Amino acid sequence: MAQLNVILLGPPGAGKGTQAERIRDEFGLPHVSTGDMLREAVAKGTSLGLEAKGYMDAGDLVPDEVVIGIVVERLDEPDCKNGFLLDGFPRSLVQAQELDKALAASGRKIELALAMSVDDEELVQRLTGRRLCRECARPYHTVFKQPAAEDICDECGGELYQRSDDTEETVRNRLRVYRSETEPLIEYYQARGVLARIDGVGHPDEIYKRIADRLIETRDREE
Ligand code: AMP
Repeated sequence: MAQLNVILLGPPGAGKGTQAERIRDEFGLPHVSTGDMLREAVAKGTSLGLEAKGYMDAGDLVPDEVVIGIVVERLDEPDCKNGFLLDGFPRSLVQAQELDKALAASGRKIELALAMSVDDEELVQRLTGRRLCRECARPYHTVFKQPAAEDICDECGGELYQRSDDTEETVRNRLRVYRSETEPLIEYYQARGVLARIDGVGHPDEIYKRIADRLIETRDREE
């Protein structure tokens, strides 16, 4: 059976997480988010979490060797055999190269890299106003997507909170790190002929449609 190994690239706040959940549901691809894995480790207080926390709070990248290890392990799990959706990884050239090596070792490769683009001022506005449900992780926004009752999730009644790295200062650093460390990967995947650029501005349904078209095209080609 053909594989569908996909990367979601794009700055923080581009909507990768939102789109990833929908792709997971509709294409049956496991959603592998390094940010989620690291936040879980921080919440549990594991040694990985303790190591990662300082970098995350500052909006800096967690060291490559730490992140690469957890991703390689995760992609070897059985549910990733026929495809996966990577969100937030790779974020540096070294990570991209190590990912290619690890996939090649099991006869796999990246079939599609979706690069979502949104300009910086819109990203700052999206991220600093973002609120998340503590229970179900559903995203809200102080201006664009308010809950019916203040600070309460419409779906599950959970409490809404702001991610500690969604403050303006940290957001601006995350964007600087993105432009210097991660954006060069767009060229990397373009050179490999797997890049699709996605305009990340508009209604989430419209953006999803742009992404789904590329996924279907890739799936049909690989079959
Ligand atoms: P995210 O949820 O993808 O915005 O990630 C939140 C934070 O986790 C980032 O600001 C980094 O500190 C860390 N992180 C997530 N993925 C990576 C990665 N691939 N490499 C290094 N650090 C990462």
